[in-house]
Amino acid sequence: MPPDTDDDPFEVQKERVDNPMRRLFDEYGRENTAQFVVGVLASVAARILDLLPPVVLGLAIDAIIRQDKSFAAGFPVIPEAWVAPFVPGTRVGQFYFAVGIIVVSFLGGAAFHWLRNWGWNSFAQHIQHAIRTDTYDQMQRLNMEFFADKQTGEMMSILSNDVNRLERFLNDGMNSFFRLSVMVVAIAAILLSYNWQLALVALFPVPLISLFTWKFIQIIQPKYADVRSSVGTLNSRLENNLGGIQVIKTFNAENHESDRVDDVSGDYFDANWDAIDTRIKFFPALRILAGIGFTLTFLVGGLWVIQGEGPGPFTGTLAVGEFVTFILLTQQFVWPLAQFGQIINMYQRARASSARIFGLMDEPGRLEEQPNAPELDITEGRVEYDDVSFGYDKNENIIEDISFDVAGGETLALVGPTGAGKSTVLKLLMRMYDTDEGAIRIDGQDLREVTLRSLRRQVGYVSQETFLFYGTVKENIAYGTFDASDDDIVAAAKAAEAHEFITNLPDGYDTKVGERGVKLSGGQRQRVSIARAILKDPEILVLDEATSDVDTETEMLIQRSLDELTADRTTFAIAHRLSTIKDADQIVVLEGGHIVEHGTHDDLLGDGGLYAHLWGVQAGEIDQLPDEFIERAARRQAEVDASDD
Ligand code: ADP
Repeated sequence: MPPDTDDDPFEVQKERVDNPMRRLFDEYGRENTAQFVVGVLASVAARILDLLPPVVLGLAIDAIIRQDKSFAAGFPVIPEAWVAPFVPGTRVGQFYFAVGIIVVSFLGGAAFHWLRNWGWNSFAQHIQHAIRTDTYDQMQRLNMEFFADKQTGEMMSILSNDVNRLERFLNDGMNSFFRLSVMVVAIAAILLSYNWQLALVALFPVPLISLFTWKFIQIIQPKYADVRSSVGTLNSRLENNLGGIQVIKTFNAENHESDRVDDVSGDYFDANWDAIDTRIKFFPALRILAGIGFTLTFLVGGLWVIQGEGPGPFTGTLAVGEFVTFILLTQQFVWPLAQFGQIINMYQRARASSARIFGLMDEPGRLEEQPNAPELDITEGRVEYDDVSFGYDKNENIIEDISFDVAGGETLALVGPTGAGKSTVLKLLMRMYDTDEGAIRIDGQDLREVTLRSLRRQVGYVSQETFLFYGTVKENIAYGTFDASDDDIVAAAKAAEAHEFITNLPDGYDTKVGERGVKLSGGQRQRVSIARAILKDPEILVLDEATSDVDTETEMLIQRSLDELTADRTTFAIAHRLSTIKDADQIVVLEGGHIVEHGTHDDLLGDGGLYAHLWGVQAGEIDQLPDEFIERAARRQAEVDASDD
């Protein structure tokens, strides 16, 4: 099978996974062995029972109607001695015996069909559920670097498409595989035991059909790969456009986007049509091959019966009933062969899917915790950055040699132009990433030596991008403090100046916020997120431009509550509006990932450096700024713009 790299984002890990299907059965199949065994046995039993009526019909013709041979001796494969004790001696008795077999085969067939479907479905569903939850758990634990490289769509595709594809194979594929194998083997055995010469005639198209099906798979597979790749492109485009619908409208880009969708949808159409065109030719061709086999069997068998001896090279006798059974079974024989192609196809796709799933499971990008790491124990809340350097890309440091020491309860503000690395410094404190050099310590404990859970439980984070989950306002405030009482939630909302707007919402605290909180304004979302942090009552607080999205009046109100919140806990704050951080105990000015100034507001104003200039800009003293500052700002802006492209 050609590798379908186009829709395969995890190609690299995938190649590292040996024998993914074996692993699938080893790691997940074992727990469901009982269902598997039930599935296999019931498939075999159901198929064998299905084959009884044509055999009994042939037998009835020869033994009961024409009385050419003994009923007990007429069963294919089964020795006469086994059957004889059960067969009645009279014609009528034998007829009712035949009816009885047919009734048993239908009733038993129905029961085994049910059991078979129960076994396979249960097997497949249990594995699907276990794999999906395991994959999600693993995905959640991967570090942020992994998510920066991969698109959400790719992850969704693994969690839904790949997992579903496995389920389909485990259910339909395996089910059909056993059913068809039993059928092919059993029919071949019956035909050969009746009359091996006519059986060869009936089986003559088998190699041809197999070869033809194999060839068909070779031709259709690359076409299916094209279809999957083009449907992937189409879905990404649609997903992207629906997400950006507001931008499309505001830029009058509807026609442009319609054209683009038309293009990718056209590619999908072409690829799909190409595959359909091949597929719809396959079945008529197969029908012709099957027809040749059937006609030959009918021709040779018919002549044999009419003449009473084998035509041409054929020798021996053929009873009418055997001939009827031959004809009935030959017809049933061809379609399973054609379906093997589908099963092989399903198997290969399932194999690719499980390779992707295990590739993800093997992804090493996890922040390691030391075995038996202790919990972070915050007594004072002192935070030290000791010569910290870090880069998202290991070849390039984004921040370098960052050192500062914040005593418990103090507030440290980070100031500097966009892209200077302020957020990065704080992400390291949450251990979203590990430092490349240097160490961060809280009350003397290195972040890498304590459990992640205890760290994140005690650090509260309010970011500039407020993410709200689909659900109610109340649930969003209590996110992370899942056991909070309603009173606590209301108190936190009041402290974040959010209570008033929340009570004005249609359902108050029970109002649904929409996907990502779209039903709230930016400022409202931010206040919900501040309430969330207040409710969590962390030892250390990180405010990443927490008030960037609110109007000046609300900011003043929130600032008041934040002052209260930050009063006795160690706080890190990034703020563009310097007025909000001028009372901080320490202000660190970052530029290009380096600390360029460090001190209190008054110190830094006195130094007359970058901070003093920024302060001047915000105080409206642009006229008095030295030209050199304006040039530097323009240069920096140009760099930021260039790096955005
Ligand atoms: P600030 O908060 O000062 O605006 P950031 O810390 O957000 O700056 O970003 C510093 C630099 O790191 C920027 O050049 C930005 O493009 C880069 N950066 C931020 N996040 C990532 C990321 N997840 N992967 C790669 N680069 C990033």
